[in-house]
Amino acid sequence: MLAAITVAKETITFHDTPEPTLEPGHALVRVHNVTLCGTDLHIWEDDYPTELPLIQGHEFSGIVEALEPEGSHDFSIGDRVAVNPIICCGECRPCLTGRYNVCQNVGCLGCYSDGALAELISVPVDKLCPIPGDLPLDIAAMGEPASISMQAVNRGRPETGETALVLGSGPIGLLATLYLTELGVKVICADTEQHRLDLAVEFGAVDTLLVTPGSDFPDAHQTSRLDAMTDGYGPQLVIEATGVPSSLENAIRLVASAGRIVQVGISPRQASVSMKDIPYKELDLMGSRMSLNLIPDGLALLARHPDQARALMTHRFAFADLQQAYRLMQGRTEKIGKIVIEMPAGTPA
Ligand SMILES: [Zn+2]
Ligand SMILES: [Zn+2]
Repeated sequence: MLAAITVAKETITFHDTPEPTLEPGHALVRVHNVTLCGTDLHIWEDDYPTELPLIQGHEFSGIVEALEPEGSHDFSIGDRVAVNPIICCGECRPCLTGRYNVCQNVGCLGCYSDGALAELISVPVDKLCPIPGDLPLDIAAMGEPASISMQAVNRGRPETGETALVLGSGPIGLLATLYLTELGVKVICADTEQHRLDLAVEFGAVDTLLVTPGSDFPDAHQTSRLDAMTDGYGPQLVIEATGVPSSLENAIRLVASAGRIVQVGISPRQASVSMKDIPYKELDLMGSRMSLNLIPDGLALLARHPDQARALMTHRFAFADLQQAYRLMQGRTEKIGKIVIEMPAGTPA
């Protein structure tokens, strides 16, 4: 089978490698679609704590080609599936307390071990997630990022009628906006790019705030709008989905007293946070990582909103052109939502 191996910084080579053998408790999945995210770009740029060479790809969908053993679970050959890429040890305290997404020894297919940018992948059967109804396989590849957004929202304990501020209108922020809106929360989205804010409105945002780097945020006009929407208290919930240090600082400054902040954006950089606001406002500041078994919910969210899911997928590349997809992400010159990689089995006729 053909596999794309990231062999060194910004270098992918295609190899004809042996097909994975079917191990007990595993399924072979023929990969149809893989979507790319910022983590993929960092790995490709060799700016990620993992060893190269590596077969990347952690957001994916495909069709079950073989199972071992058959019949001891709910899956059959030919099933359409997404896959939970999290690998956990099952033995550490987080695992034993049901928090396996923050396992001490957590791994992720395509990030720390070989992933889905190959024609076939072997995965434990308990990582398979059935794709509901006629949800297309390309959209289903985004079940994993949708699950990350839902985890972040759930961590924030939203309540109907509250106002949330979502910082960052990339795929994670947009899918969080979609889910919060479903839950009856009024969402205000902030981003540095107007085209992403236009998309945020399609995902349910009731208002948007354009951030101008280097200028005050929010400006006087934006402050009066935020005040009007929150009765002068500020949003009860802030989801930080940019990973930009100043954005966490903004979250702590803008959130209401007794409010909640969920940090889902990731950065190796340091933020300087207010040691006064956190206690004075008695804030709950929470992290959110991957998800606890929410890919089936992520798939259902996408299935309920196929138009928004389609709008997220801005670019498509054939497997053979993977390197160009990374170059495009790196250049940041185009308006990119999600990039879909069409594997040989998933290439439209
Ligand atoms: Zn991802
Ligand atoms: Zn563990």
